[in-house]
Amino acid sequence: MTARILVVDDVLPNAKLLEKKLVDEYFDVLLATSGPEALEIIQREQPDIVLLDVMMPGMDGFEVCRRIKGNPKTEHIPVVMVTALDKMSDRMAGLEAGADDFLSKPVKDRALYARVRSLVRLKVTMDEYRNRVATEMSLGSEEERQELVLKPEDTHVLLVEEDQKSADAIRKSLAKTCRISQLPMGDDIAERAREKDYDLVIVSLNMRHADGLRICSHLRSFEETRQVPILVLVKEADTKLLVRAMEMGVNDYLIIPTNEMELVARTRTQLKRKRFADRLRENLHVSLRLATTDAVTGLYNRHYMSSHLETLFAASKKGGKVMSLAMLDIDHFKAVNDTYGHAAGDAVLAEFARRIARNVRGVDLPARYGGEEFVVIMPETRTGDALLIAERLRTAIAEAPFDAGGEEGPIKITVSIGLATTGGQEIKTSRDFMELADQALYQAKEAGRNRVVVAGAGDAGS
Ligand code: GH3
Ligand code: MG
Ligand code: MG
Repeated sequence: MTARILVVDDVLPNAKLLEKKLVDEYFDVLLATSGPEALEIIQREQPDIVLLDVMMPGMDGFEVCRRIKGNPKTEHIPVVMVTALDKMSDRMAGLEAGADDFLSKPVKDRALYARVRSLVRLKVTMDEYRNRVATEMSLGSEEERQELVLKPEDTHVLLVEEDQKSADAIRKSLAKTCRISQLPMGDDIAERAREKDYDLVIVSLNMRHADGLRICSHLRSFEETRQVPILVLVKEADTKLLVRAMEMGVNDYLIIPTNEMELVARTRTQLKRKRFADRLRENLHVSLRLATTDAVTGLYNRHYMSSHLETLFAASKKGGKVMSLAMLDIDHFKAVNDTYGHAAGDAVLAEFARRIARNVRGVDLPARYGGEEFVVIMPETRTGDALLIAERLRTAIAEAPFDAGGEEGPIKITVSIGLATTGGQEIKTSRDFMELADQALYQAKEAGRNRVVVAGAGDAGS
């Protein structure tokens, strides 16, 4: 996941230092040395994230942040305030100006990368939401983009912390942000978290009677909780623990004792991303507009998919971002119809679509392309991640037989998948892009079916 980051600091060496750290991690970096210059670049270049120094002569960081958040064209761009370490009042003012998170000077590498990655994920999800609304409007929908309002009374956060003093402090800090529940401690806490749809889980990694890291890993492995954002609480010294947590897919961390403003900002960021991802998913599950969805499967139809692919492909070309596309075709589907009848075939298609929808991420867009062919569009996704997702889809189909609801008993289904990614070679049109995926799919069929083939890379195994 890459991103364009604008670094704003009136002291050029400071800006250069951050630039180097970010470029080393393959982010694209833009620089500005004053508030007005920053606003001008933001208008023109639409960066993905802004790292904003607070103390600047003329227009200070708070004012820049207020202007970014006050303009409908730029309000969605996450802003990180770079403040002096112990200036509580700065953070309070930053939060009021609309800042999405904070970094302390001097900026430490791990904190920088954690903040940036977490906000890039938020931005990718928001961008996809905006793109979908744009596609729907271009197809004639009157749907307006709804404002995202986080109401504390309907945001449910699970707090896993055995030290009740620390838990109470967190509850107090977040009282105006969300509702917090705690469950009786124990190693099966992740198990019990599956029963409720939490918007965020905050897990302490410093508990004596429960293994916080194991709880995180369980949360990531259960289907019901795989997508829930996780914030972990660590002591400054627990570097190794933190690295493992981040590798496991934890979204961000806080150092205890927690800074109240950081806790609020980080909680809000995760809640926002979850809300946007939920909306994307809702659009998938509840087929809101018949014109854009397929009646048998409830997925987006070919018309919508092609139009959306066009939007994304153009955006991806313009922003130099890499996207992937998977073409799926059920193996020997004709035989299913011939053996069990057309109605059973339809039931299999519906179950197939459900399994696909459950196993893609919020930003991915699965659609029925026609017949027993499906497409999954993966915005801002490189080959490696796309392959993981495609393999997950293939497995989700092959691992358990289908129940068509009649008396025919379980039916074994497999799928062949062709995968194409932009970025490698020059691809002129979205049609050519589809064609690449289609050729890879053809190879997957030729090679024996029930497998994923990456365009231009040969068989990726089965
Ligand atoms: P392959 O592994 O090569 O893809 O074999 P296949 O049998 O899946 O491929 P083929 O393209 O020969 O057949 C596709 C079949 O899908 C034929 C058609 O009757 C069936 N089909 C297409 N749309 C629907 C549908 O909406 N409902 C049902 N029940 N069947 C459908
Ligand atoms: Mg076919
Ligand atoms: Mg087929």
